[in-house]
Amino acid sequence: MMSGYFNDQTLQDIESRIDIVELIGENVSLQRRGNRYWGLCPFHTEKTPSFSVSQDKQLFYCFGCHVGGNLYTYIMKRDGVEFRQAVEILAQKAGVSLPTAGNQKAMDRRRQVLAVNEAAAAYYHQCLLSEQGLPAQKYLQKRGVSKESIELFTLGYASERWNELEQYLLKKGFSPEIIKISGVIKRSQRQNRYYDLFRDRIIFPIFSYNQDIIGFGGRLLGEGIPKYLNTPETDLFSKRNHLYGLAQGKLSLRGKNEAILVEGYIDCIKMHQVGLTNVVASLGTAFTKEQASLLARYV
Ligand SMILES: [Zn+2]
Repeated sequence: MMSGYFNDQTLQDIESRIDIVELIGENVSLQRRGNRYWGLCPFHTEKTPSFSVSQDKQLFYCFGCHVGGNLYTYIMKRDGVEFRQAVEILAQKAGVSLPTAGNQKAMDRRRQVLAVNEAAAAYYHQCLLSEQGLPAQKYLQKRGVSKESIELFTLGYASERWNELEQYLLKKGFSPEIIKISGVIKRSQRQNRYYDLFRDRIIFPIFSYNQDIIGFGGRLLGEGIPKYLNTPETDLFSKRNHLYGLAQGKLSLRGKNEAILVEGYIDCIKMHQVGLTNVVASLGTAFTKEQASLLARYV
């Protein structure tokens, strides 16, 4: 989804309030057949209906002229407008208020935190592939994780050092404030200083459905506790709202129309390796209502 100016929350609010069958039904007479609705295509001339709308997936597709998409695409085509205007039209219809100057600041902050996460993920990934990542590479190999998977899931390694990532991010020009908000560094309880949250851990970046890195999971390489550690819950990252593997598996989920649910990161990765790509993991929580409705957008 080309969200750009709009944040995910705005789009989710619109999508939860407007049903595509009702929306398209305002202009096209639709008949239900099986689990789809059918009508005469508004985008090409035809006498028998080849235009279909799926209520479950909130998508439309014409088998005649091959036009298809979601709510926004429909309005873009119907009214000949850009994505941004389509969102405005639908927001007004749904009674959702769009970002204004007041909350623009929060969105800028969100974008900056995403940029920190992306830089951190790239850093961890390089560490894994470097000499200091050799023990981590060995561990992954032992667990049966392939090189292709390391790339596909952007796996990484956080070294044992206390401030390596922080120094790297500061050098990259990120502000100390934004680095703190991202949660990749943590305040020491005894001293007034910060240290890298993940040390000597295999890093699993957690992607949102639209490929943003919203947080990290880290598995301790050596002995100790906690074995698994996540980025703290932030505005951006709430475990209950996300599914590990969704970004990598979403096309397959749509195609197969069913999902395999597993518990851990490595379970998810190994399913991918044997060709079962319609798989997601629940991020170590019990499967939540929010995760269920997220998944329902695909299967
Ligand atoms: Zn058509």
